[in-house]
Amino acid sequence: MKVFDYMEKFGHEQIIYFYDKTTGLKGITAIHDTTLGPALGGTRLFNYNNEDEALFDVVRLSRGMTYKCAVGDCNCGGGKTVLLGDPSKVKSEGYLRAYGRYIQTLNGRFYTGEDMNISEKDVDYMMMETNFVNGRADMSGNPSPVTSYGVYWGIKACAKEKWGDDSLSGKVIAVQGVGAVGYTLCKYLHDEGAKLIITDINKARRDQTAKDFNATVVEPEEIYSVKCDIFSPCSVGAILNDKTIPQLKCEIVAGCANNVLLDENIHGDMLMNKDILYAPDYVINGGGVINVYQEFFPPYNHERTLKIIEKIYDRLLYIFAYAKKNNINTQLAANAYANERIKTIGSIRSNYIKNEKNL
Ligand code: NAD
Repeated sequence: MKVFDYMEKFGHEQIIYFYDKTTGLKGITAIHDTTLGPALGGTRLFNYNNEDEALFDVVRLSRGMTYKCAVGDCNCGGGKTVLLGDPSKVKSEGYLRAYGRYIQTLNGRFYTGEDMNISEKDVDYMMMETNFVNGRADMSGNPSPVTSYGVYWGIKACAKEKWGDDSLSGKVIAVQGVGAVGYTLCKYLHDEGAKLIITDINKARRDQTAKDFNATVVEPEEIYSVKCDIFSPCSVGAILNDKTIPQLKCEIVAGCANNVLLDENIHGDMLMNKDILYAPDYVINGGGVINVYQEFFPPYNHERTLKIIEKIYDRLLYIFAYAKKNNINTQLAANAYANERIKTIGSIRSNYIKNEKNL
């Protein structure tokens, strides 16, 4: 697909290509939808095989951010940048500052920060050239612990929906991936008395997690078929597909990972037909974005932010009820909820107000 095909298909407002001849910086910024406010989304540096791959990634990720912001009650839209290059070779002060200058040209239509292969130190260089950066350590900080916190509350909402009681004590929970978010989630679950089964392709990490939280370890390919109450995907995307869903022996799927369903229609329906309750990924894992969004309301207050993140619990219950009422899978119900919020807020803001801030 070409650029305008994507824009027409997914409704992107703007896709910007940039190249800096001094440093070799090459990137694409996609702004999906700014109905609710400025686009928010990280900057990812990756050695894509070609431009088409990079374009596909940035289109998909920016659209996901629109939905994540909309369901997280954030007045922001969705955006993302992908930088094309080998992370071990391309980065330098000049490269990152050149990128910061492109962000500045967007004049606040897009706020960005860390993502894959872009560190806090890299963001420091970007900030020498742009004001439109968020999620730094001296502001809302590392998003992983708050993401885990939101997922923990989301899992409790799933338990409430499925079993009428949100206690996780004694529940068997299988966690796939115990990295930044999975490990902290295990801590919350363990503290509440859940029994953990874990896996990770990183042996040291899984052994440490097993030791810390008295968890049983299984091999990565075994995690789908372990008998458990809840399966919690916290590693990579697209892991629920035609091959893995038939293996599941759980009643709930709820975790931190993004884009868990290979196809939201087909695989969302497969889970529904197996009577497995699925917590839509961008709803349950939105804690990080909600945290960053709080930077727009200084001074940032961590306790206040945690309270806001806990609302993921009620939001999921609402989405489950909506899905039931309309007999659709929960991922599609989340999309409908997000679209409805964007439409309503966009519409009420079209009423004329004299001297409105934007005039
Ligand atoms: P991470 O790299 O720190 O952890 C991922 C872990 O998964 C690693 O330990 C890795 O070894 C393991 N892993 C990879 N492939 C695996 C496989 N096939 N089987 C078992 N384990 C495997 O990343 P993270 O920041 O913890 O993010 C995990 C997921 O959560 C990603 O999908 C990410 O997009 C999503 N997410 C993260 C955040 C955040 O704040 N970090 C926010 C929202 C969503």
